[in-house]
Amino acid sequence: MINLETPKKFKPLVSQAHQVATEVLRPISRKYDAEEHAYPKELDMLAAVIEGVNEGGELGGAGAGGVRRDSENGGDEGNRNGSNMATVLSIIEMCWGDVGLLLSLPNQGLGNSAIASVANEEQLELYGGKWAAMAITEPEAGSDSAAIRTTAELDGDEYVLNGEKIFVTSGDRADLIVVWASLDRSKGRAAIKSFIVERDNPGLKLDRLEHKLGIRASDTANFILQDCRVPKEALLGSPEIDTKRGFGGVMQTFDNTRPLVGAMAVGVTRAALEETQRLLTEAGVELDDDAPAFSQSAAAARFLEMEADYEAARLLTLQAAWMADNGKPNSLQASMAKAKAGRTCVDVTLGCVELCGSVGYGENELLEKWARDAKILDLFEGTQQIQLLIVARQLLGKTSAELR
Ligand SMILES: Cc1cc2nc3c(=O)[nH]c(=O)nc-3n(C[C@H](O)[C@H](O)[C@H](O)COP(=O)(O)OP(=O)(O)OC[C@H]3O[C@@H](n4cnc5c(N)ncnc54)[C@H](O)[C@@H]3O)c2cc1C
Repeated sequence: MINLETPKKFKPLVSQAHQVATEVLRPISRKYDAEEHAYPKELDMLAAVIEGVNEGGELGGAGAGGVRRDSENGGDEGNRNGSNMATVLSIIEMCWGDVGLLLSLPNQGLGNSAIASVANEEQLELYGGKWAAMAITEPEAGSDSAAIRTTAELDGDEYVLNGEKIFVTSGDRADLIVVWASLDRSKGRAAIKSFIVERDNPGLKLDRLEHKLGIRASDTANFILQDCRVPKEALLGSPEIDTKRGFGGVMQTFDNTRPLVGAMAVGVTRAALEETQRLLTEAGVELDDDAPAFSQSAAAARFLEMEADYEAARLLTLQAAWMADNGKPNSLQASMAKAKAGRTCVDVTLGCVELCGSVGYGENELLEKWARDAKILDLFEGTQQIQLLIVARQLLGKTSAELR
């Protein structure tokens, strides 16, 4: 039978993450929103503590623990709640604190997730413990990541990378950038591989940092790769171009990272709902979870409707993470969770600003900030429209060529 409670073994983790969010992230949330591009130095200490507390980084950021799907991660062992569930639960709490700061946590980038998921022993030895960002997007390739133009050419014992990467989260602060590039553009998606590039590689040139609507604590960098040489060993996974397997391998990472972005959205949504509930109660609005919405005030009814959306987003996110932990294919659920949580976060945070009126819009509260932070969660790791497309393909049994 489905159990909607937080698994007992994760309660200490959730409580620790909540404490960090309350005591470290919330107090500096507004500061680093206002000081865009300033380095949140308070996070260095936090990252060190996190590494000490749990070596896998479950109390951390965007999934440094990785998303391997082997027998140790589920398989035939029966129903289990593993690292995906732990990461999702702690991300929810930390993003209740501040999502931009969560994205800025050292050693917890999306590149770390890719490395932890597919790196071999030697690569883990070489690159484990470093902070890794992920560079897929290019000026001509956003939603359609198969359209990337960056190339990687083998030259002796090195690959030579050339191209341009934009919107790289933590690109300026990370030690490593995981770069997607094509070994042979004539062979299509199957030739796209990821390469680990050291941030101080002279062939990797920082072009600029973006100014943004939200998550302003998180740096977003654009790069030019110009004859950027990396050792052969920097290629993650197999160098073979397997046209039968196509793009499946690299895309699989998303089945594990999308629930993490769903979790970010769930955390921000809860923050906004809790603050709004406090403000409504202060203003004398009565909320009754047990009475029908139509018998309550318009403000209470709207609030309850938003709470229901939040709950649906949360459960879908937990389901997608649970499936990953149990070795079950979850592309459909991962996209459903990301789509529902992203949209809910945008709708609810704006709904909260609306319900609280001028108090919601002003900078004395964090509600206006959360409404700005929300939009990116419905955008990166695949936009709302792309998630719905993936869901539709899965439900209708269509390929990406048949439905696009
Ligand atoms: C703050 C920030 C941080 C980011 N961090 C990273 C990062 O760390 N690494 C990285 O690689 N990328 C990152 N990105 C890039 C992000 O993943 C892309 O912006 C996203 O994939 C969308 O691509 P695009 O911006 O090129 O939009 P486009 O793909 O050009 O899409 C524009 C619009 O068209 C819609 N659309 C596109 N195709 C379809 C379709 N087939 N059907 C229906 N609608 C469609 C989209 O949903 C969107 O609304 C980041 C972006 C931002 C803003």
